[in-house]
Amino acid sequence: MIKTQFIRTFGWMSFLLSTTFVLVGCEAVQQIDRGLYQVADSVSERDRITGKRTLSTASRGQQIAQGNQVIKQLIAAEKKAGRSINSALNKREYERLVRVFDRIHQVSHLNKERWEPLLIDRDSFNAFTTGGTYIVVHDGLMKQLKSDDELAAVLGHEIAHTVANHVFERQTHQMTTLITGSSAAKRSGYQAAFTYESEIEADEVGILYAALAGFDPYAASRIWARQYQQQGSARGLFFHDHPANKERAALTRQVADKVKTYYRRGRQNPNYNALRENNTLWRKRDDQRIAGEGGGLAAVLGTALGAYVQHQETKIEANRQAQQIQMMRALNSNIRVLEQRKLDNHRWRVVWQNRNNVSLANVVMGVIIKDAKGNIKRYVTHIKGNIARGARFSGIFSTPDLSIAELKKRQVAYYLDDATPYR
Ligand SMILES: [Zn+2]
Repeated sequence: MIKTQFIRTFGWMSFLLSTTFVLVGCEAVQQIDRGLYQVADSVSERDRITGKRTLSTASRGQQIAQGNQVIKQLIAAEKKAGRSINSALNKREYERLVRVFDRIHQVSHLNKERWEPLLIDRDSFNAFTTGGTYIVVHDGLMKQLKSDDELAAVLGHEIAHTVANHVFERQTHQMTTLITGSSAAKRSGYQAAFTYESEIEADEVGILYAALAGFDPYAASRIWARQYQQQGSARGLFFHDHPANKERAALTRQVADKVKTYYRRGRQNPNYNALRENNTLWRKRDDQRIAGEGGGLAAVLGTALGAYVQHQETKIEANRQAQQIQMMRALNSNIRVLEQRKLDNHRWRVVWQNRNNVSLANVVMGVIIKDAKGNIKRYVTHIKGNIARGARFSGIFSTPDLSIAELKKRQVAYYLDDATPYR
């Protein structure tokens, strides 16, 4: 999902970073000198997955030290608040977690390091990495994910975030943004889009890990299809730092299609070491020697190019989302509520009219309910069939945790959660 937690600091690298980003602007290629090899080396690291250079200011040793420092503070905070962790919290769940975790970690790129999961006492559906040798898992996630295959999908995703160096890539990225003052990077959707790219990569790598470890690679897609049924996509509401649920179900299914050939139900793929490097998703680039012989040039260009491409991709994604939000808001403004009728104590039917000059398919309608304290709940209803322009359509909302009587005391707003317009 699942949110990745990030850590700050790093003032001391600012000089090196600003030097490198002159190159990213890239008119000044002739300024490159041999000394820059050191610069490249200190701000980048070879991506463990693809072999490409990516921007990062911390060595793996520093990353572990920093990431695990956050974990240490978290454990201390839990203790202070009187909340149990790991087996003291729930022995059966913790043992299940460790069993699935170890199998995924064993096929990962960092399987030489000693890693462990940390189970904490939170109800929410969440797991995260701090970039070190721990993956933090909320108890609420364990309770909601009944199958080991689904748990493996989530753990694979988080382990992949660490392996792909996303925590520290983002930290470096935020600093360079600050230093270079890129105007694109200051726009509201940019940070979300930057994370979005990382999420897609973590999904790919995580699903490959799951398959190599003997877990069903389609489990991730099932999680997101279920989330879409329950929560819709909220496509017009805000910038997404993760792909919207429906999109993510489709993307993760495509990845599963590509890696299913490696999956042996319940068994580790015996070729996992080789498959991790070269597979249907990527081939590891082996340009170690080229970078060495070419002095600093290849290294610096590799880093600068990687950062430049990533910057462009992020801008494109941020623009795509901005357009999508604009479109959804425009469509939403021409959907009228005609009627609301109570069906029973927890269900009601709403009739709308599509006053847009386009027809709509795949419509999901949502309702946002706000209580006196400002707490917000969101429910969705999926509308079957296509809605012609001018047509009326209806949907039923079900709020098991809220009665109609209670609802009447609250602010209620309907919105178009998702739709595909056509003429
Ligand atoms: Zn993630």
